[in-house]
Amino acid sequence: MEIPQALVSALKNARRVAVLTGAGISAESGIPTFREAQTGLWARYDPAELATPQAFRRNPRLVWEWYQWRRELIAQAEPNPGHLALARMEQHIPDFTLITQNVDGLHRRAGSQNIIELHGNITRTKCSQEHILIDTWEETGEVPPRCPRCRAFLRPDVVWFHESLPADALQEAFEAAKKAQVFLSIGTSAVVQPAASLPLTARQSGAVTVEINPAPTLITESMSFVLTGPAGAVLPELCRQVWGA
Ligand code: NAD
Repeated sequence: MEIPQALVSALKNARRVAVLTGAGISAESGIPTFREAQTGLWARYDPAELATPQAFRRNPRLVWEWYQWRRELIAQAEPNPGHLALARMEQHIPDFTLITQNVDGLHRRAGSQNIIELHGNITRTKCSQEHILIDTWEETGEVPPRCPRCRAFLRPDVVWFHESLPADALQEAFEAAKKAQVFLSIGTSAVVQPAASLPLTARQSGAVTVEINPAPTLITESMSFVLTGPAGAVLPELCRQVWGA
């Protein structure tokens, strides 16, 4: 793939880079995006309607079991060449921030360090009432299990649709976008706010903006560069052309 020379130079000279990733970067690790059809047992459910507080109130068992299924999928998955390329990129850039909407923890497993998890992490569990993290609980057979402190149901420590994002993480993400010299938006359809505003904030603050996605999105037209293709192929090639093998 031909990477524009202006982009190669911008990345080579950049001291501050921020990256936003979405579900698309983990697609090649076998973790479906919400917009792809779910498989088997879960094919008849719309994930956007399971990942909500309303769904959990209506049917906590269904939502807990769906998350258990996703946790197992994620536990079996491995970081792909796209995740690994971003971990390598961090080694070359003095001030590098990886902002992710993903809850799968694959960036950390790939070796990335400065990560802002905007939507939480599926491997953690919290109390649905007090919102404090819970590491251990009694398995009584009840689904979902109960908080050992207050007996409310436990839930995954992720941000559901209609919930607010953690304020600190969001502020840090916008600061990183504002100071970035290069901003990459990878594998995100850029429709879920407020994360979707980050690439445009970076652009307005003068960053060179790059989108990596096999399909066009709402922000494609506003990007300085668009690299069309799967992240697992495009990112390693980008790193190779900027920093060598
Ligand atoms: P999304 O809105 O981020 O859209 C997925 C995007 O990925 C699409 O634009 C698609 O064209 C692109 N894509 C598909 N394959 C790709 C590839 N190989 N390389 C690069 N891009 C690719 O995702 P969504 O599924 O609608 O998710 C909505 C919310 O749920 C987001 O917050 C998302 O991150 C979260 N979610 C997280 C995970 C995860 O943690 N892995 C999985 C599903 C959903």
